[in-house]
Amino acid sequence: MRFEAISIDQFAEGVSGIYRDVELASDPSYKWMQIINDVTIVSEEIRRKRDDEAVDRLMKVLTRVVEFVGFYLSLDGDQPRTWPEYLAHHFRRPTHRDVLPGEQPREGISRWVLSKYPLSCSKCGARGERLLVGPCECLLRPWIFEERREKPKAFDDFRVRVKDNRDHLEERIAANASYFVGSEFSLVGLIRFFFDVYRNAYYVADPWRTAMHLIEEVGEVTAQLSRLNLLFVLGNGLRATDKIWDSIALDAIGRLEIHGAQLPEDKLRVLVDAEIAPLRAHEHPVDAIGALTAEKLKEELADVFSWIAALLVQLHDKRKPLEADAVTFLLIKPKNNQAYMRKIGAGGRFVFQCKWCGKESCSDACLVSNAVGAEVFEKIVKM
Ligand SMILES: [Zn+2]
Ligand SMILES: [Zn+2]
Repeated sequence: MRFEAISIDQFAEGVSGIYRDVELASDPSYKWMQIINDVTIVSEEIRRKRDDEAVDRLMKVLTRVVEFVGFYLSLDGDQPRTWPEYLAHHFRRPTHRDVLPGEQPREGISRWVLSKYPLSCSKCGARGERLLVGPCECLLRPWIFEERREKPKAFDDFRVRVKDNRDHLEERIAANASYFVGSEFSLVGLIRFFFDVYRNAYYVADPWRTAMHLIEEVGEVTAQLSRLNLLFVLGNGLRATDKIWDSIALDAIGRLEIHGAQLPEDKLRVLVDAEIAPLRAHEHPVDAIGALTAEKLKEELADVFSWIAALLVQLHDKRKPLEADAVTFLLIKPKNNQAYMRKIGAGGRFVFQCKWCGKESCSDACLVSNAVGAEVFEKIVKM
């Protein structure tokens, strides 16, 4: 495989392959907890103004999130019996066929990002510098976007523009080939796309704020994951009685009221019932609720990628072009020569390898050595 010709989805497949046999780390909750931990360290590095370390850690976050997605996408989830298989079942389930009806891009990062960000800002529909309409306009009148649920009228024009972008997504992917390998984002293309749309926002925002946004979105993913886990544990144990559906409806109505919905309760009930009806009529309601939850999870993951890109751009060494930093991010030669990829021979070919043990197939022993080694290290340096 040549480095320039690799898409983010192929990277996900390759990097997750390294960890296929690390049974100790196959649990999604465990894997996601590592990401939460790394994100908190990113914000600590920013607080201490250690930009290089923050970028380093952010690369790690990016690779971990990509690996997280790739791992469960390549697991067989047809007959899920375990929590990892259950997540695989929902990850692999076809989504967003309304905007990307073809088989390409495959189910995965590019498809999820494009559906949420249809080659434009997801809220105002501005397309960014290289996409021929100026960068994001949310900054100009932020209240329109902040209050879009309460005052939807002012938001209408933007909604139309985003919808138009979604309606013509496939042709626009073809017209903007520099971001893509086929119809999947290249590694650099993903970062470059967000940069082109949100460059103005990156210019004025403080990395601190951006890190807070990233933490917030990581939290949203955590919430969706814990809901999916709940559904897995519940299995078919949910007796989908009228009483349960009624309390689900009441909960949703209560939330709408707290959210400031202006409608009377009976009108809210109609809205809520319309959403609940297809779930209720489903042969396997828990599975249908799982699908709904997973769709939201994919959307939140797309947001995580957008904020990682934002922070990478903001922290990157301005003396180098963005691409150069992105190559560091591809982890060809980061610090201490520990990399997720190793070049082989001439011609830009490479293989994936564990950053820590250097093997193409990592093991439980590597994970345990790392965890225990870190404890011993801490004990000594903090003596
Ligand atoms: Zn915008
Ligand atoms: Zn290893």
